[in-house]
Amino acid sequence: MVQPSFNSKLPELPESIFTTMSMMAKTENALNLSQGFPDFPPDAKLLDCVHEAMRKDYHQYAPLGGIYPLREQIAEKIERCYGASYHPQKEITVTVGATQAIFTAITAFVYPGDEVIVLKPAYDCYEPTIVANGGRPVLVQMKGKEHQVDWDEVAGCITSKTRMIIINTPHNPSGRVFSREEMQLLENMLKGTDILLVSDEVYEHLVFDGLQHESASRFPDLASRSLVCASFGKTFHVTGWKMGYCAAPEYLMKEFQKIHEFAVFCVNHPLQHALTAYLKNPEHYLGLGKFFEKKRNLFIEGIANSRFKLEPTQGTYFQLLDYSEISEESDVQMAERLTKDYGIASIPISVFNKDLVDNRQLRFCFAKKEETLNKAIDILLKI
Ligand code: PMP
Ligand code: GLN
Repeated sequence: MVQPSFNSKLPELPESIFTTMSMMAKTENALNLSQGFPDFPPDAKLLDCVHEAMRKDYHQYAPLGGIYPLREQIAEKIERCYGASYHPQKEITVTVGATQAIFTAITAFVYPGDEVIVLKPAYDCYEPTIVANGGRPVLVQMKGKEHQVDWDEVAGCITSKTRMIIINTPHNPSGRVFSREEMQLLENMLKGTDILLVSDEVYEHLVFDGLQHESASRFPDLASRSLVCASFGKTFHVTGWKMGYCAAPEYLMKEFQKIHEFAVFCVNHPLQHALTAYLKNPEHYLGLGKFFEKKRNLFIEGIANSRFKLEPTQGTYFQLLDYSEISEESDVQMAERLTKDYGIASIPISVFNKDLVDNRQLRFCFAKKEETLNKAIDILLKI
């Protein structure tokens, strides 16, 4: 059979590091602290809401942008947390996780030849989506092991072709939480330009040590050009549900929905009802920072006497560990050896960096039961 020939839209796409490491963890029977997902069940109350919704008559298509009561709950949550007002009907769309929100935001606005500034290390879904749309990712590496953003460098990358900037705070994989000053700098940088912002805020509720999540929606000029993407999967320990949303001003949301309509048309209907009921109690998300801070503290206090070096993560459920005093190996080799020889899987950071820069840091997910964290601590103390 002669296969039709074509040019791949993504010819150089390696296997996702999350797939690689999770599969390695499975075959090696290792503790899996690589891919970011909790190993504990979601709140039983949330599951009750799902059971209730499933028994009702919600088995056919939902409205394109999501059911109105859920969009209302989302708008209230944003207002409560960030003091920003979004119209439930015109400015919020329920999506298949944050991944589809980000995909749709990029696809709606990026034309062939457009440039999109991406801060590295970057979560893996931004660049392929930009490239598949004919855009060109312009990569700006965050500096050193602390992952500081050089905002002057970002400003220096802006050209007449810059269509969009993508940011992610709290930041995966570094755990950095962007400060108010940084967001204001960005706001001023973009003032008067036609540049849009995609703000990936999937870890919005996972912020520690009294820091505050500085959502793009808090800054009026920034919000007026932003598509804010969020994830119920991350927020409610249900990454397998793939439920999320995008919030943006009406003139952007109109375009977003044109792509959303033909990507998915609408999203799982009964789960939207379940989330609506669950969101009515703000404690279900306001307590998450403390919940995960405890887990972070258990983890970092447990390994305080190990040979790894660390800065306590500011947000997300990831902790970076620096192994430079333990080994000269590359982070990819180190992650593989720890999985195979010590039975603990992590994520090497270099794969997210510009030019695969290797700072000898591994990412560990601490969204785990105490029992799992204790096992991880025992292993890490032996390395
Ligand atoms: N952005 C970041 C930074 C992430 O870590 C993830 C992984 N959950 C996503 C987006 C995708 O979120 P979702 O699983 O809701 O598609
Ligand atoms: N967001 C998850 C992480 O950073 C991975 C999601 C995925 O496997 N694509 O670990």
